[in-house]
Amino acid sequence: MFAQRTANYLGQLFHTRGMGNQLGVLQAARVFEEPKVGAALGGRSHGQWMGHDIANPDAVSRSALFPKFETDALVAMIENEPVGADDLTDLLLVNLKAPDFVGHQYGPDSPEMRETLSEPDRQLACILEALEKKAGTNRVVVVITADHGMPPEPQAPRKRYFNKDIVELVHKKFDPDRAALVTHFDARNNQLFVDKSRLRELGVKLSQIKEYLEAQPFIYAAYTEDEIKNASSP
Ligand SMILES: [Zn+2]
Repeated sequence: MFAQRTANYLGQLFHTRGMGNQLGVLQAARVFEEPKVGAALGGRSHGQWMGHDIANPDAVSRSALFPKFETDALVAMIENEPVGADDLTDLLLVNLKAPDFVGHQYGPDSPEMRETLSEPDRQLACILEALEKKAGTNRVVVVITADHGMPPEPQAPRKRYFNKDIVELVHKKFDPDRAALVTHFDARNNQLFVDKSRLRELGVKLSQIKEYLEAQPFIYAAYTEDEIKNASSP
């Protein structure tokens, strides 16, 4: 098995999104600081990718530029850790995240997704080469699985509503001056965190925000903290 250091490395790089991908993102961030790295990507960066502004580490993770950084970090790890060094089988778990991030952002049928899907193919060749170089030819077994599927983009005139759209909506209605009411939006479980002291300052009740959200045609239901607490499972 890999040393704990490696496990942490992998966990940080490939496993979780919220706190994770730190190393990958840090590496990705360098493309904007190091012209040499930008040049290595064939001059595709310059803060733009397929017409999108990606001049920050978070945005670059939702582009076809990201797999190269994930792979560079993984190959560096393979080269520096005792992979295949003894008779015990080593297990290497990797989650190449870009197709998931890009799919969530642009939809599964988008040109962005097509571009991004070709990149892990390319990078996989580098990973296999690094593994065979380190562990030896025919001493590596690779298993590839898919991530979850997703529905296609809605047909026009319907559109997708992103977290920031919903937060902006709440602020426009209840806190147009300071936009300080919603402090955080957790995309993974759709929780809005509302600053209660700001709520009091504005003289707004949480139930008003709930009612306002439920009045939107694209929101089916909204629940307050108390409702969740008092809910009973059947
Ligand atoms: Zn996903």
